[in-house]
Amino acid sequence: MTSITGATITVGVIGDPVRHSLSPALHNAAFAALGVDAVSVAYPVATGDDAGRSAVEAMRTLGIRGLSVTMPHKESVAAAADRRTAAGDTLGSANCLVNDAGVVTAPSTAGEGLVRSLLIESSIDVSGREVAVIGAGGAARAVIDALGRAGASITLVNRSADRAAVAAALVGERGRVGVAADLSAADVIVNATPIGMGSDPRSPVEPTLLRTGQVVVDLIYHPARTALLDAAAAVGAQAVNGLPMLLHQAAMQLELWTGEPAPVDAMRAVVEASFT
Ligand code: NAP
Repeated sequence: MTSITGATITVGVIGDPVRHSLSPALHNAAFAALGVDAVSVAYPVATGDDAGRSAVEAMRTLGIRGLSVTMPHKESVAAAADRRTAAGDTLGSANCLVNDAGVVTAPSTAGEGLVRSLLIESSIDVSGREVAVIGAGGAARAVIDALGRAGASITLVNRSADRAAVAAALVGERGRVGVAADLSAADVIVNATPIGMGSDPRSPVEPTLLRTGQVVVDLIYHPARTALLDAAAAVGAQAVNGLPMLLHQAAMQLELWTGEPAPVDAMRAVVEASFT
């Protein structure tokens, strides 16, 4: 960014809290690399029944081109937007908003960010593969939806059976509810629970269920190396953390706002500087 003028395009991120968000740094690095006259800032939007609708209305009023959306506003912005993409519609949740001359669309780039990151960063095409997803929360639902669209078959393993059934149903015949023992048969395992983060540094998978040839993805990116990824590497499985997904979901948002291919290397440098 050289200078901000009256012509500078504005985007941002909303959430509560939001000051910790990496989105402005990622997107500003991308704008600089592309030479696009745009700036991203963090907008704290307090939790409240009307928050999503207010944020969408503010985009129209202020001419904000795009917003990244984080907790707790993902559902309310999807409901308030004029349009949703197929993923945003299925999930009833969005992590992004795009303002086209007052018409606001709500996509969800999280799950597709994972699928794209696996293909670009690890040469893994999930089409036709058996994927086991652990968890049934917001991240798991986004991932399941995108994996299903990409042609994977999904077994969902979750602590709460009722939430597992609802999440598996997102992808119809491509999804089913499974148990922990099913993990060993999967080509790809995705941990979409917080088990492995600082406060809970366990592995969500018994190491005996992992095997050589599997791809094991932990959506956790801090720490970059979890007990699950250590166990996967120990048996010769391919271990992938959540940073590539974080990077590519943000890259997809940038592409929706600018219409330009994202400068992924410039964005990756921000991610690596923040977490390594
Ligand atoms: P969430 O909505 O709270 O869902 C958490 C899921 O984990 C639920 O299905 C829950 O099971 C399960 N779970 C939580 N604690 C558990 C425990 N002690 N034992 C067994 N199951 C447990 O969370 P989320 O937003 O989906 O996030 C999940 C993870 O993904 C987090 O670690 C987050 O950092 C990560 N994430 C990464 C990215 C990325 O870009 N890399 C993006 C989004 C999220 P129940 O259904 O039984 O409650």
